[in-house]
Amino acid sequence: MFELTITSQFAAAHQLRNFKQKCERLHGHNWRVDVCIRSPELDTIGLVRDFGEIKETTRQVLQELDHRFLNEIPPFDDLNPSSELLARYLFKRLSERIDGGPIRVSRVSVWESENSCASYWEGELENP
Ligand SMILES: [Zn+2]
Repeated sequence: MFELTITSQFAAAHQLRNFKQKCERLHGHNWRVDVCIRSPELDTIGLVRDFGEIKETTRQVLQELDHRFLNEIPPFDDLNPSSELLARYLFKRLSERIDGGPIRVSRVSVWESENSCASYWEGELENP
């Protein structure tokens, strides 16, 4: 199995509902997003997929969240905009655009600070 990882960023504010800690107050993060793509096969020139293509797709999806108040953007007007639920949302959005042939988005990790990260994947992941 081959795996690629690209890293991207966006800046946004959020407010966790019903969370009796300081994160219940409006605040912002410079979020870092790691997107992993897996494929058991390579194309004819020895690539899973062009890194630039994955970065561009990720940039387009993150653009919708950049410099926004996440609690106002569906589905986060209803769901809490936690790092966990952001990771699942981004996994689904990116899978729709990237999955095809042998290629799958295998994991999305959302870092809300340098040392706090939430990841989402589906199914079995060997050597996660
Ligand atoms: Zn926060």
